[in-house]
Amino acid sequence: MQAGALQTSPSSIPQGGNVAIRLRLLTVTDLHRSALLYEQLVHAVRQHRPQVVAFVGDFLHGTRDNVGRMREAQCAQVLAALPCREVVFVRGNHEDHMWQTFADAWIQTRRRLNALHGEVFAYEAMTLVGFPCFLGTEDAFIDPRNPLPQDPELWLPEVIKPWGGAGRGIWLMHEPLAGTPLSEPGSPVGGNVEWTQAIQTHQPLLTISGHDHHSPIKNRCWAVRTGNTWSVNAGQTTHGPLHYCVIDAEYRWAQPSTPRFLSITAYPWNETIEITPPAGFEEE
Ligand SMILES: [Zn+2]
Repeated sequence: MQAGALQTSPSSIPQGGNVAIRLRLLTVTDLHRSALLYEQLVHAVRQHRPQVVAFVGDFLHGTRDNVGRMREAQCAQVLAALPCREVVFVRGNHEDHMWQTFADAWIQTRRRLNALHGEVFAYEAMTLVGFPCFLGTEDAFIDPRNPLPQDPELWLPEVIKPWGGAGRGIWLMHEPLAGTPLSEPGSPVGGNVEWTQAIQTHQPLLTISGHDHHSPIKNRCWAVRTGNTWSVNAGQTTHGPLHYCVIDAEYRWAQPSTPRFLSITAYPWNETIEITPPAGFEEE
Protein backbone atom coordinates (compact mmCIF):
# COMPACT_ATOMS: atom_id res chain seq x y z
CA MET A 1 0.00 0.00 0.00
CA GLN A 2 1.38 3.33 -1.03
CA ALA A 3 0.81 6.17 1.38
CA GLY A 4 0.00 9.64 0.08
CA ALA A 5 2.60 12.22 -0.84
CA LEU A 6 3.88 12.98 2.62
CA GLN A 7 7.09 14.82 2.26
CA THR A 8 6.76 17.99 0.31
CA SER A 9 10.02 19.84 -0.18
CA PRO A 10 10.74 22.55 2.36
CA SER A 11 10.67 26.03 0.90
CA SER A 12 13.51 28.39 1.55
CA ILE A 13 12.64 30.64 4.48
CA PRO A 14 11.49 33.97 3.11
CA GLN A 15 12.96 37.19 4.46
CA GLY A 16 10.97 39.91 6.17
CA GLY A 17 7.21 40.06 6.54
CA ASN A 18 5.25 39.87 9.75
CA VAL A 19 1.93 38.32 8.77
CA ALA A 20 0.20 36.19 11.37
CA ILE A 21 -0.91 32.86 9.91
CA ARG A 22 -3.00 30.88 12.37
CA LEU A 23 -3.56 27.15 12.02
CA ARG A 24 -5.29 24.71 14.32
CA LEU A 25 -4.32 21.10 14.95
CA LEU A 26 -6.36 18.60 16.95
CA THR A 27 -4.47 15.58 18.30
CA VAL A 28 -5.88 12.42 19.84
CA THR A 29 -4.42 9.08 20.90
CA ASP A 30 -5.55 5.63 21.96
CA LEU A 31 -9.07 5.46 20.54
CA HIS A 32 -8.74 1.65 20.16
CA ARG A 33 -11.71 1.56 17.73
CA SER A 34 -14.05 2.52 20.61
CA ALA A 35 -17.40 3.51 19.12
CA LEU A 36 -17.96 5.93 21.99
CA LEU A 37 -14.56 7.64 21.63
CA TYR A 38 -14.87 7.86 17.83
CA GLU A 39 -18.25 9.53 18.23
CA GLN A 40 -16.82 12.01 20.74
CA LEU A 41 -13.88 12.66 18.42
CA VAL A 42 -16.21 13.54 15.55
CA HIS A 43 -18.02 15.92 17.89
CA ALA A 44 -14.73 17.51 19.01
CA VAL A 45 -13.62 18.09 15.41
CA ARG A 46 -16.97 19.69 14.57
CA GLN A 47 -16.70 21.87 17.66
CA HIS A 48 -13.08 23.05 17.28
CA ARG A 49 -12.83 23.07 13.46
CA PRO A 50 -9.10 22.31 13.13
CA GLN A 51 -7.45 22.32 9.71
CA VAL A 52 -5.48 19.17 10.61
CA VAL A 53 -6.39 16.20 12.82
CA ALA A 54 -3.54 13.91 13.92
CA PHE A 55 -4.05 10.41 15.30
CA VAL A 56 -1.00 9.59 17.39
CA GLY A 57 -1.23 5.83 17.57
CA ASP A 58 -3.63 3.11 18.71
CA PHE A 59 -6.60 4.50 16.79
CA LEU A 60 -7.05 0.83 15.79
CA HIS A 61 -7.05 -2.24 18.01
CA GLY A 62 -5.49 -5.25 16.32
CA THR A 63 -6.82 -7.88 18.69
CA ARG A 64 -10.30 -9.29 18.34
CA ASP A 65 -11.94 -8.22 21.59
CA ASN A 66 -14.60 -6.24 19.79
CA VAL A 67 -17.14 -5.30 22.46
CA GLY A 68 -17.98 -1.63 22.02
CA ARG A 69 -15.55 -1.30 19.13
CA MET A 70 -16.18 -0.42 15.50
CA ARG A 71 -14.81 -2.53 12.65
CA GLU A 72 -11.65 -1.15 11.09
CA ALA A 73 -13.30 -0.34 7.74
CA GLN A 74 -15.98 1.66 9.56
CA CYS A 75 -13.23 3.51 11.46
CA ALA A 76 -11.70 4.50 8.12
CA GLN A 77 -15.05 5.75 6.79
CA VAL A 78 -15.71 7.85 9.90
CA LEU A 79 -12.24 9.43 9.98
CA ALA A 80 -12.12 10.05 6.23
CA ALA A 81 -15.39 12.01 6.59
CA LEU A 82 -14.00 14.38 9.25
CA PRO A 83 -14.64 18.03 8.39
CA CYS A 84 -10.98 19.13 8.24
CA ARG A 85 -8.41 19.69 5.51
CA GLU A 86 -5.97 16.88 6.36
CA VAL A 87 -5.90 13.78 8.54
CA VAL A 88 -2.52 12.44 9.68
CA PHE A 89 -1.70 9.04 11.19
CA VAL A 90 1.23 7.93 13.33
CA ARG A 91 1.43 4.26 14.24
CA GLY A 92 1.06 2.93 17.78
CA ASN A 93 1.51 -0.63 19.00
CA HIS A 94 -2.11 -1.70 18.34
CA GLU A 95 -2.62 -1.06 14.61
CA ASP A 96 -0.73 -4.21 13.59
CA HIS A 97 -2.09 -5.91 10.45
CA MET A 98 -5.50 -4.33 10.94
CA TRP A 99 -3.93 -1.29 9.28
CA GLN A 100 -4.18 -3.04 5.90
CA THR A 101 -7.98 -3.35 6.05
CA PHE A 102 -8.23 0.21 7.38
CA ALA A 103 -6.02 1.58 4.60
CA ASP A 104 -7.90 -0.35 1.90
CA ALA A 105 -11.19 1.14 3.15
CA TRP A 106 -9.58 4.60 3.36
CA ILE A 107 -8.37 4.47 -0.26
CA GLN A 108 -11.99 3.84 -1.31
CA THR A 109 -12.94 7.22 0.14
CA ARG A 110 -10.39 8.94 -2.18
CA ARG A 111 -9.07 11.04 0.68
CA ARG A 112 -5.28 11.36 0.85
CA LEU A 113 -3.74 8.89 3.28
CA ASN A 114 -0.98 10.51 5.37
CA ALA A 115 0.72 7.69 7.29
CA LEU A 116 3.94 9.07 8.75
CA HIS A 117 6.92 6.79 9.33
CA GLY A 118 9.85 8.95 10.37
CA GLU A 119 8.65 11.64 7.98
CA VAL A 120 7.66 15.29 7.90
CA PHE A 121 4.14 16.30 6.92
CA ALA A 122 3.41 19.89 5.95
CA TYR A 123 0.07 21.66 5.73
CA GLU A 124 0.71 25.26 4.69
CA ALA A 125 2.99 26.67 7.45
CA MET A 126 2.46 23.77 9.86
CA THR A 127 4.95 20.92 9.90
CA LEU A 128 4.54 17.70 11.86
CA VAL A 129 7.23 15.08 12.36
CA GLY A 130 5.74 11.57 12.69
CA PHE A 131 7.85 9.08 14.61
CA PRO A 132 7.85 5.30 14.25
CA CYS A 133 6.74 3.00 17.05
CA PHE A 134 9.04 0.12 17.91
CA LEU A 135 6.32 -1.87 19.69
CA GLY A 136 3.77 -4.06 17.90
CA THR A 137 4.00 -5.04 14.22
CA GLU A 138 4.77 -2.30 11.73
CA ASP A 139 5.16 -4.05 8.36
CA ALA A 140 1.61 -3.33 7.12
CA PHE A 141 1.82 0.34 8.11
CA ILE A 142 5.28 1.07 6.72
CA ASP A 143 5.01 -0.92 3.46
CA PRO A 144 6.77 -0.26 1.07
CA ARG A 145 9.09 1.76 3.29
CA ASN A 146 11.95 0.24 5.29
CA PRO A 147 12.13 -0.13 9.07
CA LEU A 148 14.07 2.63 10.81
CA PRO A 149 16.94 2.05 13.23
CA GLN A 150 16.04 2.20 16.93
CA ASP A 151 18.63 4.93 17.46
CA PRO A 152 16.94 8.12 16.21
CA GLU A 153 20.31 9.76 15.54
CA LEU A 154 20.65 7.32 12.62
CA TRP A 155 17.61 8.74 10.77
CA LEU A 156 16.09 11.77 12.52
CA PRO A 157 18.75 14.43 11.73
CA GLU A 158 18.54 13.86 7.98
CA VAL A 159 14.73 13.96 8.14
CA ILE A 160 14.44 17.25 10.02
CA LYS A 161 17.55 19.18 8.93
CA PRO A 162 16.17 20.27 5.51
CA TRP A 163 13.25 21.94 7.31
CA GLY A 164 15.36 24.10 9.64
CA GLY A 165 13.47 25.20 12.75
CA ALA A 166 10.21 23.89 11.22
CA GLY A 167 11.53 20.35 11.73
CA ARG A 168 11.74 21.01 15.46
CA GLY A 169 8.25 22.44 15.93
CA ILE A 170 5.73 19.66 16.64
CA TRP A 171 6.72 16.00 16.97
CA LEU A 172 4.16 13.18 17.09
CA MET A 173 5.34 10.01 18.87
CA HIS A 174 2.98 7.36 20.23
CA GLU A 175 5.23 6.33 23.13
CA PRO A 176 6.00 9.21 25.47
CA LEU A 177 9.51 10.02 26.57
CA ALA A 178 10.60 7.91 29.56
CA GLY A 179 11.04 9.06 33.13
CA THR A 180 8.26 11.61 33.65
CA PRO A 181 4.78 11.64 35.26
CA LEU A 182 3.37 11.07 31.73
CA SER A 183 4.12 7.34 31.98
CA GLU A 184 4.49 4.54 34.53
CA PRO A 185 8.18 3.71 35.00
CA GLY A 186 9.32 0.12 34.51
CA SER A 187 6.08 -0.92 32.77
CA PRO A 188 5.18 -1.70 29.11
CA VAL A 189 3.90 1.86 28.89
CA GLY A 190 6.96 3.33 30.61
CA GLY A 191 7.99 5.36 27.58
CA ASN A 192 10.93 5.35 25.22
CA VAL A 193 14.42 6.32 26.39
CA GLU A 194 15.46 6.97 22.77
CA TRP A 195 12.75 9.63 22.50
CA THR A 196 14.03 11.19 25.71
CA GLN A 197 17.49 11.38 24.15
CA ALA A 198 16.15 12.75 20.87
CA ILE A 199 14.26 15.46 22.75
CA GLN A 200 17.34 16.41 24.77
CA THR A 201 19.49 16.49 21.63
CA HIS A 202 17.17 18.44 19.29
CA GLN A 203 14.97 20.38 21.75
CA PRO A 204 11.76 20.52 19.69
CA LEU A 205 9.07 22.92 20.89
CA LEU A 206 6.37 20.30 21.49
CA THR A 207 5.94 16.52 21.50
CA ILE A 208 2.54 14.79 21.54
CA SER A 209 2.23 11.22 22.83
CA GLY A 210 -0.23 8.73 24.29
CA HIS A 211 0.22 5.00 24.97
CA ASP A 212 -0.03 5.24 28.78
CA HIS A 213 -3.72 6.06 29.19
CA HIS A 214 -3.75 6.26 32.97
CA SER A 215 -0.59 7.87 34.36
CA PRO A 216 -1.43 11.45 33.30
CA ILE A 217 -4.84 11.10 34.98
CA LYS A 218 -3.47 9.37 38.09
CA ASN A 219 -0.62 11.89 38.40
CA ARG A 220 -2.83 14.86 37.49
CA CYS A 221 -0.20 15.90 34.95
CA TRP A 222 -0.55 16.06 31.14
CA ALA A 223 2.48 18.15 30.20
CA VAL A 224 6.11 18.23 31.32
CA ARG A 225 8.99 20.45 30.31
CA THR A 226 12.49 19.18 29.48
CA GLY A 227 14.84 22.02 28.55
CA ASN A 228 13.02 23.99 25.85
CA THR A 229 10.60 21.17 25.05
CA TRP A 230 7.07 20.66 26.31
CA SER A 231 5.93 17.03 26.13
CA VAL A 232 2.25 16.17 26.29
CA ASN A 233 0.25 13.04 27.05
CA ALA A 234 -3.39 13.99 27.65
CA GLY A 235 -4.24 10.42 28.73
CA GLN A 236 -7.29 8.47 27.61
CA THR A 237 -10.28 6.69 29.10
CA THR A 238 -12.42 3.77 27.92
CA HIS A 239 -15.80 5.25 28.73
CA GLY A 240 -15.14 8.93 28.02
CA PRO A 241 -14.98 11.79 28.18
CA LEU A 242 -12.53 11.82 25.25
CA HIS A 243 -9.07 13.14 26.05
CA TYR A 244 -7.49 15.22 23.27
CA CYS A 245 -5.55 18.40 22.55
CA VAL A 246 -6.26 21.47 20.48
CA ILE A 247 -3.11 23.25 19.33
CA ASP A 248 -3.29 26.75 17.92
CA ALA A 249 -0.13 27.67 16.06
CA GLU A 250 0.82 31.09 14.78
CA TYR A 251 3.33 31.57 11.96
CA ARG A 252 4.95 34.54 10.27
CA TRP A 253 4.80 33.02 6.80
CA ALA A 254 2.52 30.76 4.83
CA GLN A 255 5.41 28.40 3.98
CA PRO A 256 6.57 25.65 6.40
CA SER A 257 8.29 27.52 9.22
CA THR A 258 8.86 27.65 12.96
CA PRO A 259 5.71 28.63 14.83
CA ARG A 260 6.22 31.93 16.61
CA PHE A 261 3.64 30.92 19.17
CA LEU A 262 1.90 27.70 20.22
CA SER A 263 -1.07 27.34 22.52
CA ILE A 264 -2.00 23.81 23.63
CA THR A 265 -5.29 23.19 25.39
CA ALA A 266 -5.90 19.71 26.75
CA TYR A 267 -9.43 18.35 27.18
CA PRO A 268 -11.21 17.51 29.37
CA TRP A 269 -8.51 19.09 31.49
CA ASN A 270 -9.43 22.57 30.23
CA GLU A 271 -5.87 23.67 30.87
CA THR A 272 -3.60 25.52 28.44
CA ILE A 273 0.15 25.86 28.05
CA GLU A 274 1.73 28.46 25.81
CA ILE A 275 5.05 28.12 24.04
CA THR A 276 7.20 30.81 22.48
CA PRO A 277 10.43 29.63 20.80
CA PRO A 278 13.52 30.72 22.73
CA ALA A 279 15.83 33.31 21.16
CA GLY A 280 18.10 31.69 18.57
CA PHE A 281 15.81 28.65 18.14
CA GLU A 282 16.16 28.71 14.33
CA GLU A 283 19.95 28.62 14.47
CA GLU A 284 20.38 25.73 16.94
ZN1 LIG B 1 0.02 2.11 22.82
